[in-house]
Amino acid sequence: MPAYLLSKSTYIRGLQCLKSLYLNKHRSFLRDRLSEEQLAKFARGHAVGKIAQQLFPGGIEIPAPSEASARKTQKLIAEGYPVIYEACFIQNEVIIAVDILVSDGDGWSAYEVKSSGSLSDTFYKDAYLQNFVIVGSGLRLNRFFLVHRDPEKDIDNSGDVRELFVFREVEQPDERLTSQIELSISEMKQVLSQHHSPVILPGYQCMHPYPCDFRGFCWKELNDDERNKLLNG
Ligand code: SF4
Repeated sequence: MPAYLLSKSTYIRGLQCLKSLYLNKHRSFLRDRLSEEQLAKFARGHAVGKIAQQLFPGGIEIPAPSEASARKTQKLIAEGYPVIYEACFIQNEVIIAVDILVSDGDGWSAYEVKSSGSLSDTFYKDAYLQNFVIVGSGLRLNRFFLVHRDPEKDIDNSGDVRELFVFREVEQPDERLTSQIELSISEMKQVLSQHHSPVILPGYQCMHPYPCDFRGFCWKELNDDERNKLLNG
C-alpha cells in the first residue's frame, strides 16, 4: 500500500466533483483524450516553472512525487540544502510537491508558481492544502507564496527574472480552514474506498472551475440542449 491516496491535483479534482475523483482513480480509461490546447497549456506551465526556478538559483530538483522523493526531500532538508525544487511531502495520505522551497535560516519559505497572469480561488485552495501538508509533516514553514506571471510582461529567458513574476503571500490556514481540509480529505478517502462511483448527475460542477475530462462518459445521455446549457452555464 502506498503512503498516499491523494495528490494535490486529485484533491482539487475531488473538490470539484467526487465522482470525477472516483473515476480518475478506478476508471481512468473513461477519461476524455487531452486536447492540443490542454497539452500546450501543460507545456507552457512547465516552461514557466523552469524559468521561475531562476528566482532562487542553484537549487536541487527532486524527481516526480513519490515516497522516495519525499524521503529525498527530508534528507536534503536535514543536510541543510538551502534551495529545493519540487520539494515533496506526504501527510495524512496526501502527497504534494511545492515548486520551490527556500531556507530562511530559522525555517523555510515555499513558492508555488502559476503560469497564468492572475490567481483564482482554486490556486488558493491548492496553496492551503500544500501548506497543511508541509506543516503537518513537521517542517517549520515561515511563509508561503503564490507566484504568478506578470500579465504585462512577455515571459522569456532574457533580462531580470524577478521582473516577470508577481508574489502573493498566502496566510497559513486557520483552525476552521484546517478542519475543512481534514474533512474534505477524509470524505475523498471514503469515496475512493467504495466499490461504486458516487451518484452525481451532470451539473454546474462539470465546467467549473475546470472543464471535467469525464464529460464524454457522463454526458453521453444528454441531448444537445442539455449539453449547451451546461457548456454555457
Ligand atoms: S462530467 Fe460532471 S458529473 Fe461527471 S465526473 Fe465530471 S464533473 Fe462529475
